[in-house]
Amino acid sequence: MISKKMAQEINAQINREFFSAFLYLAMANDAVDKGFNGTARWMTLQFEEEQEHALKFAKYLQDQGEKVVLGAMDAPQTEWSSILAMFQDALAHEKKVTAWINDLYTLALEEKDYATQSMLKWFIDEQVEEEANCNEAIAALSMVSKSVNGTFMYDRQLGKRKED
Ligand code: MG
Repeated sequence: MISKKMAQEINAQINREFFSAFLYLAMANDAVDKGFNGTARWMTLQFEEEQEHALKFAKYLQDQGEKVVLGAMDAPQTEWSSILAMFQDALAHEKKVTAWINDLYTLALEEKDYATQSMLKWFIDEQVEEEANCNEAIAALSMVSKSVNGTFMYDRQLGKRKED
């Protein structure tokens, strides 16, 4: 059993995870359009991962006897000036997600809601990985940003991302 406020906040997070999926899909689409097929694959896998995050929160809510309520989503940005800019936006977005998850954890602490605290630990760890992945791509792409060849080489590297 969780509080109505917690259920409401988790529902909001489900929508945000779906928006994250939508944002990564928009990035994948723009990458395909510009011929960066490796980046497109990376972003498509991320799109799938974000949907899994949303469904993981949804399952938790349902296991707690609460209803999942989906809301409207904003349209994502559809164009980026470079794949470096894409990863910079992805990092900025993931930082927001990290802050939202931290807020959920703070609420769970305040409410002495141990089950939600336990569930959120997986997401807290996941966010460290999400930010690290973006930082790694940003560091590499920053080094080769003035080289078309270097950017294409790193794009191929991104395309080797394995499914989790
Ligand atoms: Mg996520």
